[in-house]
Parts: sequence; C-alpha cells; structure tokens
Amino acid sequence: MANRKKTPGDTEVEVLYQSGRRCCICFGLNNDFSEKQGQIAHLDRNNCNNKLKNLAFFCLEHHDRYDTRTSQSKGWTIGEVKRYRSELYLAVEKLRGNSQIDAQKPEENRNEIVSASGNEILILIAGFHNESKNVNYDVSGSIIEALQESFIQYNFTNVRIERIRETFRRDEVGIIKAIGKSYNATAFIWGYYDDGGMFPRYTILHKDKLIIPQKIEAKLANLIHPPDDFPIYVHRYLPSQIAYLVQFTIGQIYFWKENYNEARTSLENALAYAISNVSTDQIKESLANLHFYLGFISIALDENYEKIIQAFTKGIELNPNHPRAYINRAVASVRLGDTHQALADFSKAIELNVDLAHAHYGRGVAHSDLGEFDKAILDFTEAIKIDKKFVDAYYNRGNAHRVLVNFEEAIAGYRKVMARNPNYVNA
Ligand SMILES: [Zn+2]
Repeated sequence: MANRKKTPGDTEVEVLYQSGRRCCICFGLNNDFSEKQGQIAHLDRNNCNNKLKNLAFFCLEHHDRYDTRTSQSKGWTIGEVKRYRSELYLAVEKLRGNSQIDAQKPEENRNEIVSASGNEILILIAGFHNESKNVNYDVSGSIIEALQESFIQYNFTNVRIERIRETFRRDEVGIIKAIGKSYNATAFIWGYYDDGGMFPRYTILHKDKLIIPQKIEAKLANLIHPPDDFPIYVHRYLPSQIAYLVQFTIGQIYFWKENYNEARTSLENALAYAISNVSTDQIKESLANLHFYLGFISIALDENYEKIIQAFTKGIELNPNHPRAYINRAVASVRLGDTHQALADFSKAIELNVDLAHAHYGRGVAHSDLGEFDKAILDFTEAIKIDKKFVDAYYNRGNAHRVLVNFEEAIAGYRKVMARNPNYVNA
C-alpha cells in the first residue's frame, strides 16, 4: 500500500459518479444494482495506471477478490469487467435521466418512485422507444390507463403502476432488469416501435414471487418457475394489443397472488381474445408462454400430469426453443413413469442451453432410473460444475457411484468365478 499512487481526484470523482457507487461485478453477474460500500480498482492490476478506462468501482468483496493475485485463475478477465462496466454506466445514466426528467416536470410524478414493499406488486411501465422516429406516439399512457381501470374492476389492492420516463432499446433487457430490481418491482412493461410495428415486451423481475409450491417430486424439486421474459410481437392493432396485454397482466397478478383459478380464467380469456382479435402469427411466442403458465397453474393446483404435459406440449408447438418448457414437461413425464420421454426432453433442454444445472440433474435422475449409472454420473457432475451448491446432485452422484462400484465388484467377482471354472455359466 505504501508505494501505491493515489488516483487523482478528478478521475476518482468521475468513476464514482459514472458508477453511482454500484459494483460492476455485482451488476454484471447478479443484476444487483444497489449502492455499495466499495473501492476503486485498477483493472490491469497496475496501481500506477490511473487512466479512467483502467478504473472501476467494486464492492469490497469483489475488490478483494479481484485484487488477490493468488485467486486470479478463478478471477474475471479485464474484457469481461469492462463490458459489465459499460452496461452499468449506461444503466446509471438511464436511471439519472429518469429522475432528471421527473424533476423538470413538477406537475406530474415529481416524487421519485418509491420501491415496492414486502408483498406489494409494482409494475413499471416505460415509454416505448421509437426506432425510426417517423411516427411519434407513446403507448405507455394507454396501457397504464387500461391497467388502472382493470385494477379497480378486479378490486386489486397492493398493486401499483409507476411510469418510468425513459425509453429502452430492444437490446437493453439487462438494464431493464437492473432498474426494475432497484425499485423492487415485480414486472416491467416496455417496448419499442418502428415502421414494422409495435413491440411491447413484458419482463418479469421478481422470481421469488413466482416460485410455485414444490409438489412434483422430491428428488426433482426446484425445477419449476415460469420464463422471466415475455415478449409479445404484435403489429397494427393497438387497442387489441393493449386489451391482450392487460388481460395477460391480470392473469399474472392473480398468479403472483397464488389465486390460480382466477389466473387461469384470465389467461384463458386472454387466449380466446387473442385468437379472435390478434393475428396469432404475430404473437406466437407470447401464446406459447401463456400455455406454459397454464401448465404452471396445473402444477400448482396439483392436477394430473397428462394435463400438465398437454399444456407444455401446446406451448412447445408454438415455441420449440424454450429450454425450461422441456424441463417442466420432462418432470411431469418422470412422474408419469415415462422415463424415455423425460430423457429426450432433458436432452433437448441441454441442447438449447447447456448451462441449466437442473436439466443435467434431471437427465442424471432419468439415466439412473434406466440403470445407466455411468451416464448419470456424467450428468450429475455437469450439474455440479454449473451449480456448486447443488446438494441433490452430489447426493445422487454418490448413490450412482455406489451402485456402479457394487456392480463392478460384482462383475469382478463373476470374472474370478469364470476364471476358476469357465463352465460355471450361472455365476
Ligand atoms: Zn460486487
């Protein structure tokens, strides 16, 4: 520390300002956008290089881990950190832009948005970004109006809508998630439009409010939660789009309130409405998600597995690229005793996203059930590689090893018997 050159005042202020004292590793890895106690780090680990592009604000824990040379092999690369840093700076800028616009318009929304408390459902709605600037209308106002009307109609308490006076580009989902989380929001409705049409999007932020009671199968617990991103590709007919979006949101709110029967009614209404009023081609992906939700509801209500499989199958037909849908269908198949179908679905999920620990774990369980313990061990090992705290994976791998060792011992014993007496076929 003695020969460490202090970072010059102006540069230091700039780093603190641009980061808003948010840690770029926390942000990049966990979407954690909260203010931290921290320090400025030299990305190249050279304390004399005080150029702005070499500096980043880290929380104390990440600062320690970045600076410790011994742990460097496990550490983050400069390129990685720089990327998180530029996304973080953009998010901070967006957030600031939003509060500055609020301050300039004292008549409306002067107060800063208050973060959601405990069980409160907070839905944030952003202005819709205009990609081409040829047309100029803001759809968020009409969505808010329609939603507020329905909240009264359905007598929803503890649900709040807030408008974010900022627009987002189609590739800014990471920023959306960070800002949403900083307000403890549950969902974020945003979107963009260009000459091709309007693209409202629905991003779920609060997964812990979505986790469904685990009733499927003890050894396959924690598999179930709905997709966190809900893109709706709707063109041309704005009123139908909004009506559909509102119906979907109502279904969603009932879902969060664990009122699954009402959730199903609203989602089925949304589905029927979409089929008769919106071109289904344009909202294929969103309808797929709707079927997935109907599947989650069946799981939550402990309905029969055929029904669950049917819902996920319908969703998969509309969107064959959602790995979690395959995982969920596979879990239901395991429960029905259709291990081969489960194996195929877990493999498909892995093919779509190799980083899902539960897909590897599930396939491991399926392989074990089929007596293929060597393959099961590979799968459990893969699951553990992705999630080092995956207790069930360790446990099941242990079991598989034990069975395999016993089996090999049995084979070895058999060989010994054979060697001694080649004619003893019944050994
Ligand atoms: Zn951190």
